[in-house]
Amino acid sequence: MCHLPNLLYRPSYPSHGVQMSDKNIRTSRSLAPTDADSEVVVQGWAQDIRNLGGISFLQLRDRYGIIQITAPKKKTDPQVMDAITSLSRESVVRVTGTAKASDQAKGGVEVLPTHFEVISAAATPLPMGVIDKVNVEADTRYDHRFMDLRKPETRAIFEIKSTVLSLIDEYLVNNGFTEVFTPKLVASGAEGGATLFELRYFDQNAYLAQSPQLYKQMLMSTGLDKVFEIGPAFRAEPSDTTRHVSEFISFDGEMAFIESQRDVQVMIEGCMQSVIGGVIERCKGQLELLGVDVALPKAPYPTLTYESAVEMVNAEGMNIPLGEDLGTEGERLLGNIMARQGSEMYWIVEYPDEAKPFYIMEKEGTPYSYSFDLDYKGQEISSGGQREHRYDNLVSRMEKKGLDPASFNFYLEAFKFGMPAHGGWGLGVERLIQKMLDLPNIREAILFPRDRIRLVP
Ligand code: ATP
Ligand code: MG
Repeated sequence: MCHLPNLLYRPSYPSHGVQMSDKNIRTSRSLAPTDADSEVVVQGWAQDIRNLGGISFLQLRDRYGIIQITAPKKKTDPQVMDAITSLSRESVVRVTGTAKASDQAKGGVEVLPTHFEVISAAATPLPMGVIDKVNVEADTRYDHRFMDLRKPETRAIFEIKSTVLSLIDEYLVNNGFTEVFTPKLVASGAEGGATLFELRYFDQNAYLAQSPQLYKQMLMSTGLDKVFEIGPAFRAEPSDTTRHVSEFISFDGEMAFIESQRDVQVMIEGCMQSVIGGVIERCKGQLELLGVDVALPKAPYPTLTYESAVEMVNAEGMNIPLGEDLGTEGERLLGNIMARQGSEMYWIVEYPDEAKPFYIMEKEGTPYSYSFDLDYKGQEISSGGQREHRYDNLVSRMEKKGLDPASFNFYLEAFKFGMPAHGGWGLGVERLIQKMLDLPNIREAILFPRDRIRLVP
């Protein structure tokens, strides 16, 4: 016998005594002076409660802001009055009442409660305050992140992050890219052994992917000739810095049939302008809450060679030998120099080949490579370049870098049977947000950051 689903079945949920009618539900955003004298239902967290004897005020916070509940003792049901006066801060409540125009209340409307339901009473004391002006340590905030996120300015960062991701998506899809998802459980790393997280995978060893590098390159041999991926990347970063975490969101792209790495840079540059311009346009309220003034970087972004970048910082007191990394200090100083020239975003190209991974293409006859970094206000946010697509060269580059080509067979195979010239990039989404919003630490742009000491919550 076969059982057809009963399409008429509707699960019933307890109403907790509230006559819910969708028509009546208001948020701090939708409650308007036109609601005056009609019955409304509002719900949220009890941010602040003031009991002045003859009258009680409750500041009800929801996603968008504050609704004032005003309960004059004489006009309020005693049970409702009791519920309000005994309420603990941050409890979740649902209030039915009459909307009244008010000069004192934000938005010009307050609600006089007729029915008051405590959906969830908050325990006391709170692990941290939501509106208290005291500066709470970052660790305390990350330990109680759910509470920290009740602050609108904390949530604003994540609303902006969500917008950034949509904007990236829009830009790349409009430019003919296909979004892909590559494995995060992998058998070999691409970015060097030191930062690999190893784990047991049935009866063999596996790693968490440091980047989609090998897979997105393999896709270049398929006809999916422009791909992008936005997903987690894992790196066991041993040092504690304000720009490294062990799990971040990497925005990767790869493009086939390029003429040079410049094609890749042009794509990223267009994408960054569209993302930053889009945030300025779509996230006005959030930017205001955060008190940041985001400027659209001057485009086209200036291009410095690695060599000239080293010369520039050395001319201002640093002492970086040619061939070595600019380092955090060098990058920061270069950021200051470029800021003086009015550039927040700039390219550093042609890094020493020695410092670059095997998959990057050498600039023949020089010690340099077809590679680039994109720096934003003195910090790297993206790296990329043209890839070596010629099988024999790729194998010899692996050997030169001390890697065993045999363990990369699955990858190398894709280069044996027809591989176009290609190039791509990896961009740290939280680095971009950190610099765009001038956040002191990359962790501020991650809901539940992961680092050497933090695995909880
Ligand atoms: P850095 O030199 O700043 O440590 P990297 O050169 O090692 O970075 P890449 O391998 O080039 O990093 O990775 C591409 C991008 O991914 C970087 O430009 C950065 O935006 C981001 N990224 C890399 N490592 C981390 C990390 N540990 N935490 C957050 N973002 C990262
Ligand atoms: Mg890099």
